[in-house]
Amino acid sequence: NRRILLSSRPVGAPTSEDFQLVSGPVPQPEAGQVLLRTLFLSLDPYMRGRMSDGPSYAAPVALGEVMVGGTVSRVEASHNPRFAMGDLVLGYTGWQDYAVSDGQGLTKLDAADPHPSHALGVLGMTGFTAYMGLLDIGKPVAGETVVVAAASGAVGSVVGQIARIKGCTVVGIAGGAEKCRYVVDELGFDHCVDHHSSDFAAQLAAACPKGIDVYFENVGGAVFDAVLPLLNTRARVPVCGLIAHYNDTAKNATTPGGPDRRATLMGTLLRKRIRMQGFIIFDDYAPRFGEFHTAMSTWVKEGRIAAREDIVQGLENAPSAFMGLLQGKNFGKLVIQLADA
Ligand code: NDP
Repeated sequence: NRRILLSSRPVGAPTSEDFQLVSGPVPQPEAGQVLLRTLFLSLDPYMRGRMSDGPSYAAPVALGEVMVGGTVSRVEASHNPRFAMGDLVLGYTGWQDYAVSDGQGLTKLDAADPHPSHALGVLGMTGFTAYMGLLDIGKPVAGETVVVAAASGAVGSVVGQIARIKGCTVVGIAGGAEKCRYVVDELGFDHCVDHHSSDFAAQLAAACPKGIDVYFENVGGAVFDAVLPLLNTRARVPVCGLIAHYNDTAKNATTPGGPDRRATLMGTLLRKRIRMQGFIIFDDYAPRFGEFHTAMSTWVKEGRIAAREDIVQGLENAPSAFMGLLQGKNFGKLVIQLADA
């Protein structure tokens, strides 16, 4: 049984030294327990927060413990009447080949589902985040302009496609020409702007001639600086993530652009009566997962929502894939495949 442990807390960007791959015997399930073989492991930006012990909405991973993460696993042995060998389950068993569980927190998946890894993405945590953040906080109205950052990624790609379904004009922001092409050609956004371009702010303004009514914030940093002046009166800003800042340290977290940035932000919110609201998906919306799942399954079946995955083979490649996620190297929902489904 191979497991990846947190061996040190990163300062700034994580490095391979912060992770340790260890091997040991496969655990044996006891009465009431099941043995789970991990098939797919979800890698998500929030894991950077769990590597640090600063203030957070969730406890950090302890040093020497297995890195946490959502998983799709197969039941390989069962001493629990709720589960049979061969069942597929969604769980939170982390960066390891095998886990034992008493069944708490496991959700059975349809074993005949041809695409079980979607339970970690479009039909799971990231799709749910896109759905609730956009519809409950963003409240898009047909004809409005919706802008979403990290637009080719797990959350952003779904936000933009739902906004299209709701009749909005949708502008994505993504890193690089290839991601931008995909966002327009495959996902059906109206425009996509490359945030690496030297004239990014001007390109974004040109793509939003009527201003921005909903900005779905995944990123922060320079992207938000370009968005702020374009926000319309009564704009809504669901604050979902700030990935541009996850590796900030007291040393590198400088704020370019002059001393009045807080005043500019507060003044804009005040004058334009803008609503910004953060949310933590399962803390705030867990009771609405069923509603989301029904709507999203239908859209995916009808081909109205596409979900690209970036599947990396092998547990041993999880640390480098995770470090890449924080630098925009993933293209779609990042998932590690540990064994054949
Ligand atoms: P993605 O699949 O979108 O992958 C992350 C992407 O972020 C990268 O591919 C990169 O895309 C972009 N990115 C990274 N660094 C920067 C930067 N400095 N400036 C601009 N873009 C950057 O990840 P997810 O869809 O899983 O997550 C998106 C956001 O949603 C994250 O901030 C995450 O923390 C948040 N989240 C919040 C939840 C909540 O409950 N509030 C739940 C789930 C996710 P590109 O190459 O296009 O720049």
